[in-house]
Formats: sequence, C-alpha cells, structure tokens
Amino acid sequence: MLINIITIFPDIFNSYFGESIIQRAQDKKLLRLEAHDLRSFTHDKHHTVDDTPYGGGAGMLLKVEPIYEAVQSLTKTSALQTIKNIIKPKRRKVVLLSAKGKTWTQALAREYSKLDELILICGRYEGVDERVLSFVDEEISIGDYVLTGGELGAMVMVDSIARLLPGVLGNEASYEDESHSELGVLEYPHYTKPPVFKMGNKELTVPEVLVSGNHQAIADWRQQHKNFKF
Ligand code: SAM
Repeated sequence: MLINIITIFPDIFNSYFGESIIQRAQDKKLLRLEAHDLRSFTHDKHHTVDDTPYGGGAGMLLKVEPIYEAVQSLTKTSALQTIKNIIKPKRRKVVLLSAKGKTWTQALAREYSKLDELILICGRYEGVDERVLSFVDEEISIGDYVLTGGELGAMVMVDSIARLLPGVLGNEASYEDESHSELGVLEYPHYTKPPVFKMGNKELTVPEVLVSGNHQAIADWRQQHKNFKF
C-alpha cells in the first residue's frame, strides 16, 4: 500500500514512521509512506501556501491551487498506467483531515487497509479553502476536538491502517481479537510477570486461572472478561 501525505511539515513524520512496526512494514515493502512538502507545488518566489480568508476573520487558509496540483501530480502516473492497461485500476482515496469530518473508527481503518493508495491532505491554520472538497473523496476527523494541524491525524490513520496490512503484525490473531475488532467490544485484561506485585502494603495478584495452564478455562475467562462500550 502506498500512502502519500501532503503537508507543510513533512519532517514531522520522520521520527514516528522511522520506528517499530511502521518502519518494519516499510522494510518488508508492505507499506510505502511518502510525505510531500506542499510548498514544492507552488510557483511563486516565496512558495506561498496560505492566504487570508474572504469575508475577513482570524487566521489564514491553505490555498486550493497547490493542494490541487499536489493531488494531480500524485495521481497522474498511476492514471496513465491504468489507461495503458499496464496495471489494474488503483483502489485509491483522497482524504482531507478535518475536525468537521467523519469520525475515524476501527471499521474505517479495516476498510482503508484494502486500498492500494491513500492520499492524506493535512490542513493547518484556520483550515483549507472549501474548494478542496471538490477533489477529495472523504473528510476524516480523529475525534471531536481541534488540533493545530492534520499531521497528527494522518499519523493516527497511518498507524491504525498499517497494523491491519497482511504480514505487518507477527501474529494476525493480534488484531482479530482486540478492542474494537467487533463494534463496541473491548478486550479482556492482560497480566505479565511477576505473579504478585507489591504496591505499598497491598499485594496485587494475577487471576489464578491465567496461570493454571488450562486453555479452555483461560479462553472462557477471557470471554467473560471482555467489556462493552455501549
Ligand atoms: N477552523 C477549523 C474548524 O473550526 O473546524 C479548525 C482548523 S485546525 C486549527 C487546522 C487543521 O488541523 C485542519 O484543517 C485539519 O486538517 C486539522 N485538524 C484539526 N482538528 C482535527 C481533527 N479533530 N481531526 C483531523 N484533523 C484535524
């Protein structure tokens, strides 16, 4: 899967995407992540990406032209190849990160993990010129609060999608039996060594069944200790 991110801060992604599972997914060529600087799709001397809103008001807006040019440039090569029938049409989505968007969920992450390509547009300042919506497929919000920019939202989307790509997690069962894999169902509690942890004068123990070695009893206990969100 190829995920292209359009942003005015491409370096923000280096640290998080250069570690752990996301880095391993890239090493194994299961995922390609590219952060593109919106400024490189401008043509003026100052590489202007923002301007004041019509009608007045506080803050600046990201301009429509560089965002359109970036999306066009990222979709052009594959469109040409598709016309020439070199490759089958791409399953692709262009998404704007937005506090006004559809709320990101595990079900959406699962749906998006089946795409070939994803283009994420990160807003900044007061947001983006509304005309950007004419060439995006979906607006996505990562929750009912306002972030400074779309970059954290893009990271959240990439992270939750990447771990669902076949081969990325060592054990596929890790995501088949975890919180939200079924709507509203939350995972059972986990424990690791030591079996007794002393917290002041309290002894915190591990449920006996988990150290019993009885697989059926453990499975039953886990089933009974799942939680429900609703
Ligand atoms: N004026 C906008 C509003 O009231 O909806 C908020 C703009 S916010 C300061 C700047 C950018 O951060 C947005 O364009 C969007 O890309 C991103 N952003 C903010 N909150 C977000 C959220 N909850 N989910 C996803 N992206 C968000």
